[in-house]
Amino acid sequence: MRGVLIAVTGGIGSGKTTVTDLLEAKGAVIVDADVIAREVVEPGTPGLAALVEAFGPEILAADGALDRPRLAAIAFADPDARARLNGIVHPLVRARSKELTEGAPPGSIVVQAIPLLAETAGRGNFDLVVVVDVDPEVAVQRLVAWRGMTEEDARARIAAQASREERLAIADVVLDNSADRAHLETQVDRLWADLQRRARP
Ligand code: ATP
Repeated sequence: MRGVLIAVTGGIGSGKTTVTDLLEAKGAVIVDADVIAREVVEPGTPGLAALVEAFGPEILAADGALDRPRLAAIAFADPDARARLNGIVHPLVRARSKELTEGAPPGSIVVQAIPLLAETAGRGNFDLVVVVDVDPEVAVQRLVAWRGMTEEDARARIAAQASREERLAIADVVLDNSADRAHLETQVDRLWADLQRRARP
């Protein structure tokens, strides 16, 4: 590739998808860790075979696909199981992300969406780490209003992630998503202009 490689991260409900959708509309190549994490364990993949080997066939639904809620319950209850799960899925996601990034056309602006960047890789070797930042209370309100989550669930998920400060510590660029969408879009426009300057040979 060799254009620009950036990471977009942020807490749950911070607005990562909103930002990557805006960047995609402008022409960025989006490599989304959440999407890839589902692809690498689809039926027939070595990833799913490795999970069945580690956790037993009870993690499969009747149709042979991964029973995600069941696996999530196992991993949530037991730190060892969680480590084993991550040990299988994370390397597969990294390898596939690398493949897609390297396969992007020359001069591309590639955006890797990595929700858990602060928890896992740290800064990595990105040209720019972009953090979508919002007060956790606002994220809770949005997750309840738009995603139908219970307030308790939203708070539990936020508490299980890196803190706002830990995330800001790895940021080169902070996008403030505490106001309306127009406010966010203005910042994304500015970011895009900067990325285009950087991508020019
Ligand atoms: P997740 O971590 O769950 O994947 P995310 O970080 O990708 O979430 P989004 O899906 O972009 O976040 O945003 C969370 C919710 O808040 C969505 O329903 C989105 O439409 C809404 N939202 C995002 N930004 C704003 C904003 N500035 N004002 C109001 N609602 C917003």
